[in-house]
Amino acid sequence: MTHLPFLDRIGRILIMRRLNRSARRRDWTEISKEAHTWLPARTAGLASKYGFSYNRIAIKHNKTNWGSCSSKHNINLNMTLMLLPVYLRDYVILHELSHLQVFNHGAPFHKLLDKLCLEHIGRSEKLLRKEIRGYHAYSGEKIA
Ligand SMILES: [Zn+2]
Repeated sequence: MTHLPFLDRIGRILIMRRLNRSARRRDWTEISKEAHTWLPARTAGLASKYGFSYNRIAIKHNKTNWGSCSSKHNINLNMTLMLLPVYLRDYVILHELSHLQVFNHGAPFHKLLDKLCLEHIGRSEKLLRKEIRGYHAYSGEKIA
């Protein structure tokens, strides 16, 4: 399970472990702007590198998941990903891309994702899943 950050009324993160103070204080407008550029570009790059194709990508700001992939092959990513290290953003993107091929969390899905994680990040999916748990205060979607 993943957990999402606890946000106060003005939309700033109050609790997010392991992030530096400057990241926590950054304005969400700036984070959103960055997210709308960086995440689609990164997703397109990884999709092209590993042979995936999707329809649309949308950047959201919610407390329930880091990302999702619909049966119509649309990908949603949470702008809060911009506060995580790049390799964990990539991990979430690879997770959603893997759903384009396997639309569930069964063994073939984990096999595919683990292969991509080892190749692209150099860490197992299991380890990355464990790592990303440390970043949130709320329980969210099952990321793996
Ligand atoms: Zn999933």
